[in-house]
Amino acid sequence: RPREELDAVDSVCPYCGVGCALTYYVDRSRGAIAFAEGRDQPGSKSRLCVKGRYGWDYAASPQRLTVPLIRKESSYPKGPLSADVRGDADNDRGRAGAGGNRSGGGRGAKLSKNGKDGRRKPGGLVDYDEVLPHFREATWEEALDLVARRLREIHAEKGPGAIAGFGSAKCSNEEAYLFQKLIRAGFGTNNVDHCTRLCHASSVAALFEGVGSGAVSTTYGDVANADVVIITGSNPTANHPVASSFFKQARRRGTKIIYVDPRASTVAEHADYYCQVKPGTDVAFYNAVMHEVIRLGLIDREFIKARVSGFEELVRTVNDYPPERAAQITGVDADLIREVARVWGEAKAGVIYWGMGISQHTTGTDNARCLIAMCSITGNVGKPGSGLHPLRGQNNVQGASDAGLIPMFYPDYQGVDREGTRRRFEAAWGTELDPNRGLTVTEIIGSVLKPDGVRGMYMLGENPFLSDPNINKVRKALGALDFLVVQDIFLTETAEFADVILPASSYLEKEGSYTNTDRRVQLGRKVMDPPGQARVDWEIIQDIAQRIGLDWSYSSPSEVFDEMVALMPSYANLRHDNLGLTGKLYPNEDPEHSDGTAVLFDERFNTDDGLAHLAPAHWLPAKELPDAEYPLVLNTGRLLEHWHTGSMTRRSYALDTISPIAEVYMHPKDAADRGLSHGQMARVRSRRGAITLHVRVSHREQRGNCFIPFHFREAAANLLTIDEIDPYGKIPEFKFCAIQVEAL
Ligand code: SF4
Repeated sequence: RPREELDAVDSVCPYCGVGCALTYYVDRSRGAIAFAEGRDQPGSKSRLCVKGRYGWDYAASPQRLTVPLIRKESSYPKGPLSADVRGDADNDRGRAGAGGNRSGGGRGAKLSKNGKDGRRKPGGLVDYDEVLPHFREATWEEALDLVARRLREIHAEKGPGAIAGFGSAKCSNEEAYLFQKLIRAGFGTNNVDHCTRLCHASSVAALFEGVGSGAVSTTYGDVANADVVIITGSNPTANHPVASSFFKQARRRGTKIIYVDPRASTVAEHADYYCQVKPGTDVAFYNAVMHEVIRLGLIDREFIKARVSGFEELVRTVNDYPPERAAQITGVDADLIREVARVWGEAKAGVIYWGMGISQHTTGTDNARCLIAMCSITGNVGKPGSGLHPLRGQNNVQGASDAGLIPMFYPDYQGVDREGTRRRFEAAWGTELDPNRGLTVTEIIGSVLKPDGVRGMYMLGENPFLSDPNINKVRKALGALDFLVVQDIFLTETAEFADVILPASSYLEKEGSYTNTDRRVQLGRKVMDPPGQARVDWEIIQDIAQRIGLDWSYSSPSEVFDEMVALMPSYANLRHDNLGLTGKLYPNEDPEHSDGTAVLFDERFNTDDGLAHLAPAHWLPAKELPDAEYPLVLNTGRLLEHWHTGSMTRRSYALDTISPIAEVYMHPKDAADRGLSHGQMARVRSRRGAITLHVRVSHREQRGNCFIPFHFREAAANLLTIDEIDPYGKIPEFKFCAIQVEAL
């Protein structure tokens, strides 16, 4: 149909933290989206990557959940735990993937195959024919009554600490706000968290400690004003493609790029300086750079004197890291470290952009502390072209964190353990609240396996069975829960463990606001109705709240947003009706006339005393080092075409066609040593399990290191990963564990 006969609906891309603005063109006669187009907005300037342009057809998948489901009585207990649940590294049933446990393991390996219509079916997804017989269809009334009754029973019998909720960064701000309010006000516990725990929790911990705010201090577009930028622990070409296009454009205009990463991603080809650090050595690298910046006298003395505390201790710490010593630890030539220090120290303005290669370590908070110090001692905060920017992975992980989906903070990072704050929220919500910090995602999984731990869980749009580390442990925990309700749009791997499954809405089917990595709050608009009996998420949360006795009667997402903003000073003045077509940055004094504040901390930091607080750190090795039996290091992450546990992108025809199979990326010599060649099948094992997948020989990997994306159920990378966590941010070590790769 010609464009003029299509309905144009302005919305936001649901995938990465860049949050590109786009318009969906809808053919109402077919009830389907015809195509998507980028829309002008200061942060994305009409650009889209392949996910934004083509990755929306999953919403029309025939596999959408359309009716509430309740587990059949005959399906209890939830099944015998299969052998790989016990973490037997020699058991190769793990290679069949992360299948549910009720059939006793060895299942789930559904490789791609052609359907009757000749179109390739998505591979590796939950086998509906196998799982659905364990459930029966129910009415909404019956399902919601059961959810409310069971959660209340567990609460009454075992206390508030026996309840926990996982919210989602895929949900809108309003849904995130209501979800955390339900867990806190309805069940009296702060056991509510979401996937920020798996991506930037350590960055938030370091930023909150260092500058008093968990958000970015400047936008990714500010790269245009920088003399130099450091991109570290990140592959933005794959994970933040439109932001990456801004970086490359800036370089063409003269901005120098320093790229620091163990993997030689395509960004390395665009960089002026590429430092291929060994995995897990970031603290040693940045301490050495600061050692040189200080030795060369390239620090900003005025800035340090007026606005920084802890400098003397930093000097003492980095004294232990002359470039020659750091070169031995990091593998980066000492002269290159000196040159990077000179370029960074001499720059008039510089930004550091970082990703999960920094944050997803047991030293993730220390890594981020080093980056805060790098900017603080050179005065690179609070002016155009300078600052700190953790690149957020999901389109609303910033917003979900802002809205309070964190166990230690109410909305806007207001501490639950601060009495005055708690009293304010108690007054606003009309109930007594828990004065103690709750458990994080990683702690909740561990708690379920303890006798007095969490017994009942509400899972909103999360799929920990593929996304969390050491998923045999996750499997054991999910199987051990007394009650699990999963609210999602597909039958995910986690939903296989549910007692009740509630069919929810995709972002295309509802209105809500989303906050991108730049702190830009944008409206996602409804494009189509949810399928069947599936419902909008905020209404489902409200129905459960009413059933457990909360007096909620919200009539729209904008009403929820108004309540939320009233409790969040950072979001002051924002309303749905003043976000406009391009959204607004927060903080924002005058949204009617201003885009908002791009650069923070021009006069003071958000800490109580207004100073940046340096927290120097010494380098510590990873928790599980390679040895004779497991001689290689595993790094996990994302691909351009896929997103997280693949429930959406693997149901997108274009995306799954481009990238249909799981692969282990290896250096050519590591592959050759094992008699492996490109495309061959290999077995990868760690102390926790084993998977089977194709080999991709790649010069981008350094010797001794492998990379596996975590999107693929049939070769679930998190069967291999270790569940050690960072002591501050409680984030797992997704970037370093010992493995072996063998030919089959
Ligand atoms: Fe979507 Fe991110 Fe791609 Fe933009 S860069 S289109 S937000 S996935």
